[in-house]
Amino acid sequence: MIDLVKQLVACDGPSGHERVVRDMVRQMAAPYADELRVDRLGNLIVRKGKKAANGLRVMLSAHLDEIGLIATHVDEHGFVRVSNLGVVHAPYCLGQRIRFLNGVQGVVGHEIEGFTGEKITLDKLFVDVGAASPEDCPVQVGDAAVFQGSFQEVDGRWTGKALDDRVCVALLLETLRQLKDSPHEVYFVFTVLEEVGRKGARAAAYGIDPDVGIALDATATGDTPKGRKMAVALGNGPAIKVKDAGIIAYPGLVQAMEAAAAQLNLPVQREILMRGATDASMIQTARAGVPSGGISIPMRYVHSPVEMVDAQDVHQAMTLLLHILENSIQL
Ligand SMILES: [Zn+2]
Repeated sequence: MIDLVKQLVACDGPSGHERVVRDMVRQMAAPYADELRVDRLGNLIVRKGKKAANGLRVMLSAHLDEIGLIATHVDEHGFVRVSNLGVVHAPYCLGQRIRFLNGVQGVVGHEIEGFTGEKITLDKLFVDVGAASPEDCPVQVGDAAVFQGSFQEVDGRWTGKALDDRVCVALLLETLRQLKDSPHEVYFVFTVLEEVGRKGARAAAYGIDPDVGIALDATATGDTPKGRKMAVALGNGPAIKVKDAGIIAYPGLVQAMEAAAAQLNLPVQREILMRGATDASMIQTARAGVPSGGISIPMRYVHSPVEMVDAQDVHQAMTLLLHILENSIQL
Protein backbone atom coordinates (compact mmCIF):
# COMPACT_ATOMS: atom_id res chain seq x y z
CA MET A 1 0.00 0.00 0.00
CA ILE A 2 2.92 2.35 0.63
CA ASP A 3 3.67 2.65 -3.09
CA LEU A 4 0.05 3.46 -3.79
CA VAL A 5 0.04 6.21 -1.14
CA LYS A 6 3.30 7.57 -2.51
CA GLN A 7 1.85 7.79 -6.02
CA LEU A 8 -1.36 9.41 -4.81
CA VAL A 9 0.26 12.13 -2.69
CA ALA A 10 2.60 13.00 -5.55
CA CYS A 11 -0.50 14.22 -7.42
CA ASP A 12 -1.70 17.75 -6.70
CA GLY A 13 -5.45 18.06 -6.17
CA PRO A 14 -6.67 21.01 -4.14
CA SER A 15 -10.45 21.35 -3.77
CA GLY A 16 -12.08 22.02 -7.12
CA HIS A 17 -9.08 20.64 -9.02
CA GLU A 18 -9.35 16.91 -8.40
CA ARG A 19 -9.14 15.78 -12.03
CA VAL A 20 -5.52 14.58 -12.05
CA VAL A 21 -5.96 12.52 -8.89
CA ARG A 22 -9.34 11.25 -10.07
CA ASP A 23 -7.92 10.09 -13.42
CA MET A 24 -5.22 8.13 -11.62
CA VAL A 25 -7.71 6.53 -9.21
CA ARG A 26 -10.09 5.77 -12.06
CA GLN A 27 -7.40 3.90 -13.94
CA MET A 28 -6.45 1.91 -10.85
CA ALA A 29 -10.06 1.08 -9.95
CA ALA A 30 -11.31 0.13 -13.41
CA PRO A 31 -10.10 -3.51 -13.50
CA TYR A 32 -12.00 -4.30 -10.26
CA ALA A 33 -15.21 -2.36 -10.89
CA ASP A 34 -18.61 -3.70 -11.93
CA GLU A 35 -19.62 -0.18 -12.83
CA LEU A 36 -17.69 3.07 -12.85
CA ARG A 37 -18.79 6.62 -13.51
CA VAL A 38 -17.97 10.23 -12.76
CA ASP A 39 -20.96 12.29 -11.67
CA ARG A 40 -21.70 15.88 -12.61
CA LEU A 41 -19.69 17.36 -9.71
CA GLY A 42 -16.70 15.13 -10.42
CA ASN A 43 -17.12 12.40 -7.81
CA LEU A 44 -15.74 9.06 -9.00
CA ILE A 45 -18.31 6.36 -8.18
CA VAL A 46 -17.23 2.74 -8.39
CA ARG A 47 -19.70 -0.08 -7.74
CA LYS A 48 -18.76 -3.62 -6.86
CA GLY A 49 -21.30 -6.39 -6.26
CA LYS A 50 -25.08 -6.62 -6.21
CA LYS A 51 -27.31 -6.48 -3.18
CA ALA A 52 -28.10 -10.01 -1.90
CA ALA A 53 -31.08 -10.87 0.33
CA ASN A 54 -29.01 -10.25 3.47
CA GLY A 55 -27.11 -7.35 1.96
CA LEU A 56 -27.25 -3.56 2.01
CA ARG A 57 -26.35 -0.81 -0.40
CA VAL A 58 -23.19 0.51 1.24
CA MET A 59 -21.61 3.85 0.40
CA LEU A 60 -17.95 4.23 1.31
CA SER A 61 -16.23 7.54 0.78
CA ALA A 62 -12.72 8.94 0.76
CA HIS A 63 -12.08 12.43 -0.54
CA LEU A 64 -9.80 13.15 -3.45
CA ASP A 65 -9.17 16.80 -2.65
CA GLU A 66 -6.47 18.26 -0.43
CA ILE A 67 -6.26 21.64 1.26
CA GLY A 68 -4.50 24.39 -0.65
CA LEU A 69 -4.09 28.08 -1.33
CA ILE A 70 -5.67 30.28 -3.98
CA ALA A 71 -4.23 33.50 -5.41
CA THR A 72 -6.41 36.51 -4.52
CA HIS A 73 -4.25 39.23 -6.09
CA VAL A 74 -0.74 40.13 -7.19
CA ASP A 75 0.73 43.28 -5.64
CA GLU A 76 2.72 45.99 -7.44
CA HIS A 77 6.02 44.20 -6.70
CA GLY A 78 4.87 40.88 -8.11
CA PHE A 79 4.16 39.14 -4.81
CA VAL A 80 1.15 36.83 -4.82
CA ARG A 81 -1.39 37.16 -2.01
CA VAL A 82 -3.41 34.10 -1.11
CA SER A 83 -6.52 32.82 0.59
CA ASN A 84 -7.31 29.33 1.81
CA LEU A 85 -8.90 26.35 0.08
CA GLY A 86 -10.20 24.42 3.08
CA VAL A 87 -8.85 24.82 6.61
CA VAL A 88 -5.28 26.10 6.22
CA HIS A 89 -3.32 27.18 9.29
CA ALA A 90 -1.19 30.24 8.44
CA PRO A 91 1.76 29.31 10.72
CA TYR A 92 2.11 26.00 8.83
CA CYS A 93 2.49 27.93 5.56
CA LEU A 94 5.35 30.12 6.60
CA GLY A 95 8.74 29.17 5.16
CA GLN A 96 7.18 26.51 2.97
CA ARG A 97 7.58 25.83 -0.70
CA ILE A 98 4.28 25.72 -2.55
CA ARG A 99 3.46 24.69 -6.09
CA PHE A 100 0.76 26.22 -8.29
CA LEU A 101 -1.11 23.86 -10.58
CA ASN A 102 0.50 25.51 -13.61
CA GLY A 103 3.87 24.35 -12.28
CA VAL A 104 5.04 27.68 -10.84
CA GLN A 105 6.82 27.25 -7.53
CA GLY A 106 6.92 29.80 -4.76
CA VAL A 107 8.21 30.44 -1.25
CA VAL A 108 5.87 31.73 1.44
CA GLY A 109 7.07 34.83 3.29
CA HIS A 110 5.53 37.12 5.90
CA GLU A 111 5.15 40.90 6.08
CA ILE A 112 6.84 41.16 9.45
CA GLU A 113 10.31 39.70 9.71
CA GLY A 114 11.78 38.63 13.02
CA PHE A 115 8.40 37.55 14.39
CA THR A 116 8.05 39.72 17.44
CA GLY A 117 5.12 37.73 18.75
CA GLU A 118 2.89 38.98 15.95
CA LYS A 119 0.07 36.58 15.14
CA ILE A 120 0.69 34.88 11.80
CA THR A 121 -2.39 35.21 9.64
CA LEU A 122 -3.01 34.34 6.01
CA ASP A 123 -3.58 37.97 5.03
CA LYS A 124 0.00 38.86 6.08
CA LEU A 125 1.57 36.06 4.08
CA PHE A 126 2.77 36.43 0.52
CA VAL A 127 4.15 34.06 -2.08
CA ASP A 128 7.42 34.92 -3.75
CA VAL A 129 7.51 33.41 -7.23
CA GLY A 130 10.47 35.49 -8.40
CA ALA A 131 8.40 38.14 -10.16
CA ALA A 132 9.09 41.89 -9.84
CA SER A 133 5.77 43.22 -11.13
CA PRO A 134 2.22 41.98 -11.81
CA GLU A 135 3.02 41.89 -15.55
CA ASP A 136 6.02 39.70 -14.84
CA CYS A 137 4.09 37.34 -12.53
CA PRO A 138 3.24 33.87 -13.90
CA VAL A 139 0.36 33.47 -11.44
CA GLN A 140 -3.17 34.70 -12.10
CA VAL A 141 -5.91 35.53 -9.65
CA GLY A 142 -7.74 32.27 -8.94
CA ASP A 143 -4.76 29.98 -9.53
CA ALA A 144 -4.60 27.24 -6.88
CA ALA A 145 -1.52 25.86 -5.14
CA VAL A 146 -0.59 23.07 -2.72
CA PHE A 147 2.22 22.35 -0.28
CA GLN A 148 5.28 20.55 -1.61
CA GLY A 149 5.84 18.25 1.42
CA SER A 150 7.35 15.13 -0.13
CA PHE A 151 6.51 11.62 1.06
CA GLN A 152 8.84 9.87 3.48
CA GLU A 153 8.65 6.75 5.58
CA VAL A 154 10.12 7.05 9.05
CA ASP A 155 10.13 3.93 11.19
CA GLY A 156 6.73 2.59 10.12
CA ARG A 157 5.24 6.03 9.96
CA TRP A 158 4.31 7.74 6.73
CA THR A 159 4.81 11.50 6.44
CA GLY A 160 3.99 14.04 3.76
CA LYS A 161 1.36 16.36 2.37
CA ALA A 162 -2.19 15.28 1.45
CA LEU A 163 -2.13 12.07 3.50
CA ASP A 164 -5.54 13.52 4.45
CA ASP A 165 -7.21 11.88 2.62
CA ARG A 166 -5.09 10.04 0.03
CA VAL A 167 -4.17 7.44 2.61
CA CYS A 168 -7.88 6.53 2.69
CA VAL A 169 -8.14 6.75 -1.10
CA ALA A 170 -5.40 4.10 -1.19
CA LEU A 171 -7.20 2.12 1.50
CA LEU A 172 -10.42 2.10 -0.53
CA LEU A 173 -8.59 1.13 -3.73
CA GLU A 174 -6.92 -1.76 -1.95
CA THR A 175 -10.24 -2.81 -0.36
CA LEU A 176 -11.88 -2.73 -3.80
CA ARG A 177 -9.11 -4.96 -5.11
CA GLN A 178 -9.27 -7.46 -2.25
CA LEU A 179 -13.04 -7.64 -1.65
CA LYS A 180 -14.27 -11.06 -2.74
CA ASP A 181 -17.52 -12.41 -1.32
CA SER A 182 -19.82 -9.69 -0.12
CA PRO A 183 -23.60 -9.76 0.26
CA HIS A 184 -23.55 -6.00 -0.24
CA GLU A 185 -23.73 -3.66 -3.17
CA VAL A 186 -20.70 -1.57 -2.36
CA TYR A 187 -20.15 1.90 -3.75
CA PHE A 188 -16.60 3.14 -3.43
CA VAL A 189 -16.96 6.89 -3.79
CA PHE A 190 -13.94 9.11 -4.29
CA THR A 191 -15.39 12.50 -3.48
CA VAL A 192 -14.57 16.05 -4.51
CA LEU A 193 -14.88 19.29 -2.51
CA GLU A 194 -14.67 17.70 0.94
CA GLU A 195 -12.32 20.29 2.37
CA VAL A 196 -14.64 23.13 1.36
CA GLY A 197 -17.86 21.88 2.92
CA ARG A 198 -18.17 18.20 1.95
CA LYS A 199 -20.27 19.06 -1.07
CA GLY A 200 -19.25 16.15 -3.27
CA ALA A 201 -20.44 13.56 -0.74
CA ARG A 202 -23.81 15.27 -0.44
CA ALA A 203 -24.46 15.02 -4.16
CA ALA A 204 -23.06 11.49 -4.47
CA ALA A 205 -25.15 10.17 -1.58
CA TYR A 206 -28.29 11.62 -3.12
CA GLY A 207 -27.55 9.82 -6.37
CA ILE A 208 -26.64 6.48 -4.78
CA ASP A 209 -29.37 6.46 -2.10
CA PRO A 210 -27.43 4.09 0.18
CA ASP A 211 -28.73 2.03 3.13
CA VAL A 212 -25.62 2.81 5.15
CA GLY A 213 -22.70 5.23 4.83
CA ILE A 214 -19.12 4.93 6.03
CA ALA A 215 -16.61 7.75 5.55
CA LEU A 216 -12.91 6.94 5.59
CA ASP A 217 -10.93 9.96 6.67
CA ALA A 218 -8.25 11.26 8.97
CA THR A 219 -8.79 12.25 12.57
CA ALA A 220 -6.61 14.25 14.93
CA THR A 221 -4.75 12.76 17.90
CA GLY A 222 -4.19 13.82 21.49
CA ASP A 223 -0.76 12.26 21.89
CA THR A 224 1.64 15.15 21.22
CA PRO A 225 3.16 17.43 23.91
CA LYS A 226 0.46 19.64 25.41
CA GLY A 227 -1.76 18.44 22.56
CA ARG A 228 -5.50 18.48 22.42
CA LYS A 229 -7.58 16.60 24.99
CA MET A 230 -8.47 13.62 22.89
CA ALA A 231 -8.34 9.86 23.46
CA VAL A 232 -6.97 8.96 20.01
CA ALA A 233 -3.27 8.10 19.67
CA LEU A 234 -1.09 7.23 16.69
CA GLY A 235 -0.41 3.49 16.41
CA ASN A 236 -3.22 2.36 18.71
CA GLY A 237 -5.39 1.12 15.87
CA PRO A 238 -8.03 2.63 13.60
CA ALA A 239 -10.55 4.95 15.21
CA ILE A 240 -14.28 4.31 15.11
CA LYS A 241 -16.10 7.60 14.87
CA VAL A 242 -18.60 8.22 17.65
CA LYS A 243 -18.97 11.97 17.20
CA ASP A 244 -17.40 14.93 15.45
CA ALA A 245 -18.53 18.49 14.74
CA GLY A 246 -20.79 17.25 11.95
CA ILE A 247 -22.26 13.96 13.08
CA ILE A 248 -23.26 11.68 15.89
CA ALA A 249 -22.50 8.34 14.28
CA TYR A 250 -25.39 5.88 14.05
CA PRO A 251 -25.09 3.86 17.30
CA GLY A 252 -25.95 0.55 15.62
CA LEU A 253 -23.14 1.11 13.12
CA VAL A 254 -20.64 1.94 15.87
CA GLN A 255 -21.66 -1.31 17.60
CA ALA A 256 -21.36 -3.30 14.38
CA MET A 257 -17.85 -1.90 13.81
CA GLU A 258 -16.77 -2.63 17.36
CA ALA A 259 -18.19 -6.15 17.16
CA ALA A 260 -16.24 -6.74 13.94
CA ALA A 261 -13.04 -5.48 15.58
CA ALA A 262 -13.63 -7.76 18.57
CA GLN A 263 -14.11 -10.77 16.27
CA LEU A 264 -10.85 -9.96 14.53
CA ASN A 265 -9.11 -9.25 17.83
CA LEU A 266 -8.08 -5.91 16.33
CA PRO A 267 -7.26 -2.88 18.48
CA VAL A 268 -9.60 0.06 17.84
CA GLN A 269 -10.13 3.43 19.47
CA ARG A 270 -13.24 5.51 19.87
CA GLU A 271 -13.10 8.89 18.18
CA ILE A 272 -14.64 12.06 19.49
CA LEU A 273 -13.38 14.93 17.34
CA MET A 274 -14.34 18.32 18.72
CA ARG A 275 -13.53 20.33 15.60
CA GLY A 276 -13.82 19.08 12.04
CA ALA A 277 -16.22 16.86 10.14
CA THR A 278 -16.15 14.34 7.31
CA ASP A 279 -18.26 13.16 4.38
CA ALA A 280 -20.21 11.04 6.90
CA SER A 281 -22.27 14.03 8.00
CA MET A 282 -23.41 14.70 4.45
CA ILE A 283 -24.25 11.07 3.72
CA GLN A 284 -26.25 10.93 6.96
CA THR A 285 -28.59 13.71 5.91
CA ALA A 286 -29.01 12.72 2.27
CA ARG A 287 -32.58 12.14 1.05
CA ALA A 288 -34.66 10.67 3.90
CA GLY A 289 -31.57 9.95 6.01
CA VAL A 290 -28.84 7.31 5.96
CA PRO A 291 -27.39 5.57 9.05
CA SER A 292 -23.77 6.71 8.85
CA GLY A 293 -20.45 6.67 10.62
CA GLY A 294 -16.76 6.60 9.98
CA ILE A 295 -13.53 4.70 10.27
CA SER A 296 -10.76 7.21 10.87
CA ILE A 297 -7.01 7.06 10.55
CA PRO A 298 -5.24 8.75 13.47
CA MET A 299 -3.11 11.55 12.03
CA ARG A 300 -0.70 14.00 13.61
CA TYR A 301 -0.11 17.49 12.16
CA VAL A 302 -3.33 17.30 10.13
CA HIS A 303 -3.57 19.96 7.41
CA SER A 304 0.15 20.70 7.53
CA PRO A 305 2.77 20.11 4.79
CA VAL A 306 3.99 17.09 6.76
CA GLU A 307 1.12 15.02 8.08
CA MET A 308 1.91 11.74 9.84
CA VAL A 309 0.15 8.37 10.09
CA ASP A 310 1.15 4.97 11.40
CA ALA A 311 1.22 2.32 8.67
CA GLN A 312 -0.20 -0.32 11.00
CA ASP A 313 -3.30 1.79 11.75
CA VAL A 314 -3.94 2.00 8.00
CA HIS A 315 -3.54 -1.73 7.42
CA GLN A 316 -5.75 -2.57 10.39
CA ALA A 317 -8.42 -0.17 9.17
CA MET A 318 -8.49 -2.06 5.89
CA THR A 319 -8.75 -5.44 7.64
CA LEU A 320 -11.67 -4.07 9.65
CA LEU A 321 -13.43 -2.62 6.61
CA LEU A 322 -13.03 -5.83 4.61
CA HIS A 323 -14.50 -7.86 7.48
CA ILE A 324 -17.48 -5.51 7.76
CA LEU A 325 -18.13 -5.72 4.02
CA GLU A 326 -17.81 -9.49 3.82
CA ASN A 327 -20.46 -10.12 6.49
CA SER A 328 -24.04 -9.01 6.99
CA ILE A 329 -24.33 -5.70 8.81
CA GLN A 330 -26.77 -5.56 11.76
CA LEU A 331 -27.69 -1.95 12.32
ZN1 LIG B 1 -9.99 14.70 5.31
